[in-house]
Amino acid sequence: MAYATRTFWSQAEALDFMMERQKNNNSDEILYLFSFESQPEGKRRYQVADIDIFIHEYYQLPANQRHTYEIIVDKKPSKLYFDLEYDIVANPNIDGPRLTTNFIQFVLNFMRKRSDDLDYSIKDVLVLDSTSPKKFSRHLIFQTKDPFLDNIAVGKFVNLILEDIHGCLINHQCPGVINSSLSRVQQNQSYADSTVFSKNLLNSLEPHLSRFEHCDCIDDYSQLKFKDMIEFMVNKSDGTGIIWFCDMGVYTKNRAFRLLRSSKFDKQECFTIAPENQWKPILRRCRSKTSEPNDAERQTFMASLVYFNKPIRRFIDVDDENPTAIQSINSRMQRPNHSSPSYMTDDMRKMSLDYPELINYMSNIARDKKDDGNGIRISRLYKAKEIQNDFRWEISFLYVGDYKYCEKIKRHHKANNIYFVVDMRKGTYRQKCHDTDCKTFQGVEQTLPQHVTPWLMLLDDDWENQNPQSLQKTS
Ligand SMILES: [Zn+2]
Ligand SMILES: [Zn+2]
Ligand SMILES: [Zn+2]
Repeated sequence: MAYATRTFWSQAEALDFMMERQKNNNSDEILYLFSFESQPEGKRRYQVADIDIFIHEYYQLPANQRHTYEIIVDKKPSKLYFDLEYDIVANPNIDGPRLTTNFIQFVLNFMRKRSDDLDYSIKDVLVLDSTSPKKFSRHLIFQTKDPFLDNIAVGKFVNLILEDIHGCLINHQCPGVINSSLSRVQQNQSYADSTVFSKNLLNSLEPHLSRFEHCDCIDDYSQLKFKDMIEFMVNKSDGTGIIWFCDMGVYTKNRAFRLLRSSKFDKQECFTIAPENQWKPILRRCRSKTSEPNDAERQTFMASLVYFNKPIRRFIDVDDENPTAIQSINSRMQRPNHSSPSYMTDDMRKMSLDYPELINYMSNIARDKKDDGNGIRISRLYKAKEIQNDFRWEISFLYVGDYKYCEKIKRHHKANNIYFVVDMRKGTYRQKCHDTDCKTFQGVEQTLPQHVTPWLMLLDDDWENQNPQSLQKTS
């Protein structure tokens, strides 16, 4: 089917053609959209191609003609992918391959914590390298069984990862950590624009980075040193501050993502397999050894593509754990006429200053012995949301990890996390659950130890202050 491949001058035309073709699809062709910078002056063109035909042609091109990009088409199932990069001169002390491996380890751990379905190893991650003398550059493409709904969902997921990094660093306390002044955490909890959200996280983290100079602690969950996690933020090339090691600009609609074996039009470096890569093609006995590319090369190339073209069982969920919309302070200000003033925050650092005993207690509550008596199940407090108005004053504590004990089912959930809600006026807490079956469930109300709720004791002191003795003292 020679006409399965067609080239266009505009992306819109190419997308139309692709859509039309898929509508009338009567063959088993798998269409991809590529863009390439064409000779002589590098003008962009767009090619809709059946993947088999494309690969065959692509592997015959000489290196100086391979400037091809996969277009990550809008609303198509997507793999988890990252574009990692930093300026080498601005970051002289970073060991790039080590940083890449640490980053992968953190992501894998985050996935495992999130769901039993997301249990993968570094062998499931294809790592590509396109480092130049000026810029360290890696692409990661995760070979998960399930895809994301589209690459916008991938961007949301990556933001959850960055939020987790943020939480790990900001909540760590140890003698080595020098206390720095309180910073304002992001107020606008919107994932709508993944670059804005990740930037807010950065702004909130920046003042804390110097705290870790004398900290040698290891994060229980990722098994990474906090000191190494700090490197997930790198110096900008122009020296004007820091930026995430993973480029958050790559999760936009119809994003172009440079292919394995391709270089930029004006550059030499093409993507190759990185030295620290551990993903391997499956060895198979092949019919013909002379075919170009060979089977292993073909598998590798397919693994490097972001579009998920296999049968879909389900999509990886990226919704935030707590679906109840707790609004930020910003949204309160947008509604000045609201009759009942309501205070809301999810600034964990502020809360640990306001209620240190409570935060400490709740940090250690989600753990128990494993059923077989060996080891412990443990979940880490990663987020707390406080709400205070005339009707209620509550803090919801959200966790990730393998402690998911739900009082409703009287055992640990397999995938969904549980959370606790503290009633700040009563000094009690209840277990709640993110599982859809337990949505309305509330656990037995339990009383917090007195030393955990000193603000309630303060109330008692106030009562005492009413008596004449103390009045005398103050007068
Ligand atoms: Zn420490
Ligand atoms: Zn980039
Ligand atoms: Zn439950």
